[in-house]
Amino acid sequence: MGGTFDPIHNGHLVCAEEARLQFGLDEVVFVPTGQPWQKAAVSEAEDRYLITVLATASNHHFSVSRIDIDRGGPTYTVDTLRAFRAFYGERAELFFITGTDAVAEILTWKDPEAVLEEALFIAANRPSYSLSDDHQRLFRDRVSVMEIPALAISSTDIRKRVSEGRTIRYLLPREVREFITERRLYRSEPAALGGG
Ligand code: NAP
Repeated sequence: MGGTFDPIHNGHLVCAEEARLQFGLDEVVFVPTGQPWQKAAVSEAEDRYLITVLATASNHHFSVSRIDIDRGGPTYTVDTLRAFRAFYGERAELFFITGTDAVAEILTWKDPEAVLEEALFIAANRPSYSLSDDHQRLFRDRVSVMEIPALAISSTDIRKRVSEGRTIRYLLPREVREFITERRLYRSEPAALGGG
């Protein structure tokens, strides 16, 4: 399950659990992106890693990998998938779960043919979004689309809500909300030094 997770929210968790059950997966490994090279500023990798751990701790089928963070440099999914293949072995069946709009961009990623060969993709669909007919033809049997109504929740909306001082209650796990408050993430003014 790859994503920037800035922040992780209930839509991601519903999506992971739904994929696990629909595709009969043994486990779902959340892989927070290290440096998303196609993006402007994102929160610190360690904060995104910690909230992903907090959000997934109560599900024993979920785990979190630091692989993209520890590898350093820009994050390329082809490197992630090759490392997973080396770890789990040739007989393992690997799936890469992520958002449909991210999947629609695969052709702009590094080594897209290898990416699509190493794993079957599960594209989690927001209610308002779907793959174009061209993409569906192109990806054929390598990408399965999964409808996730809970993905109406989005990280972008959550960051905006925090910056405007609006509530994010019930959109993400309580532990993640508390971490965001404590670390003053997504606020325009910097955190005060020395407590308070
Ligand atoms: P993104 O552009 O932040 O997200 C695209 C859309 O997909 C957003 O609507 C996002 O919603 C949703 N999304 C992201 N991760 C999701 C997940 N795990 N489950 C459900 N929806 C998800 O995409 P990103 O997070 O940066 O990248 C997604 C994955 O693609 C990461 O693993 C990243 O490393 C990989 N990627 C690889 C390359 C490459 O190899 N060159 C390039 C780009 C991305 P939210 O904002 O609500 O999450």
